[in-house]
Amino acid sequence: MNRNKREKEYYSIDVGDSTFMVLKRYQNLRPIGSGAQGIVCSAYDHNLERNVAIKKLSRPFQNQTHAKRAYRELVLMKCVNHKNIIGLLNVFTPQKTLEEFQDVYLVMELMDANLCQVIQMELDHERLSYLLYQMLCGIKHLHAAGIIHRDLKPSNIVVKSDCTLKILDFGLARTAATGLLMTPYVVTRYYRAPEVILGMGYQANVDVWSVGCIMAEMVRGSVLFPGTDRILKLNLHPNPRNAVLSHPFCLTSCSYLCTQREKLPSYCACFMSEDLKRIKPVFTADTSQARDLLSKMLVIDASKRISVDEALQHPYINVWYDPTEVEAPPPVITDKQLDEREHTVEEWKELIYKEVLDWEERTKNGVIRGQPASIAQVQQ
Ligand code: AMP
Repeated sequence: MNRNKREKEYYSIDVGDSTFMVLKRYQNLRPIGSGAQGIVCSAYDHNLERNVAIKKLSRPFQNQTHAKRAYRELVLMKCVNHKNIIGLLNVFTPQKTLEEFQDVYLVMELMDANLCQVIQMELDHERLSYLLYQMLCGIKHLHAAGIIHRDLKPSNIVVKSDCTLKILDFGLARTAATGLLMTPYVVTRYYRAPEVILGMGYQANVDVWSVGCIMAEMVRGSVLFPGTDRILKLNLHPNPRNAVLSHPFCLTSCSYLCTQREKLPSYCACFMSEDLKRIKPVFTADTSQARDLLSKMLVIDASKRISVDEALQHPYINVWYDPTEVEAPPPVITDKQLDEREHTVEEWKELIYKEVLDWEERTKNGVIRGQPASIAQVQQ
């Protein structure tokens, strides 16, 4: 495509503190969120005739942390295709050459809200259990592809008003440092499993802990384990009516964790009795089943914690069980060394640029993820 034609396809618009340079097919940009990687906007896509979300990754190759995350996200989003994982609709860069390359724009399905906003709402067990089911389906699909998330949190989970749910990101790379990252952005660690916070070995049910924390938060309306840094504060008290928690203790070592692990399930069962009144029962068994599931997810000892498959079979969840959702064929990840890659800034820049060009090439032939795309989709 010649340079002039390409230039004419883009326009520039200020959104908050950032400037978006997007294809003209995307109009009516409005900021809807921001994360560690940058700003996300909603927009109307005139080609697809639908609303979409556009995330700008500014200079994603600027350092190792940003580059690895951006590259991993791009590769995985292109491979994964499941109704509970956010789908990629388009990828573009307004820059024309590798030398000029600066920013990547990811166009995704637009959802209505993230889970932080849902936590404030009144829920019934039907909705709560359906949301949890979808989270578990998405997680199982990632696990089937060898991706263990380790960093699920409400801000990375989005929903629609019809109660459908999608996971927004792919968590921490196997080789990612879980300590402080070199970024001014504050990383929320409230949902990370004890074994992640302590940098211990982990297995797939590390993600079940996070689902447990999210479920407890939806039940209580507030964060279950607020803590800072590498210290996970467990505020346990046998009397849930006592809002002033009198036994705060910090879990800073594995041995200390082990001494406390038996206390947690009974604590969960205890606070649930009170807090569950917030959630409207649909069936009489709902409350006891919800309490049972939560106490099996929030077990510090991972070897005794429920697995994703067991959680999907739990009576609170399995009412939604649909094999086409739970047992969808796993995605094939094209880059086998995705998590092991270490590169210089210049190498990352080239790798990310190649991924963007590869998308443009693939969509040019009218094929997205093996699915025929409409003509409107390819003719920008
Ligand atoms: P992220 O940069 O991916 O962490 O996203 C930051 C925030 O933007 C999220 O917490 C959501 O509130 C919002 N967001 C991101 N992607 C979408 C989307 N596809 N639909 C709706 N909201 C989104």
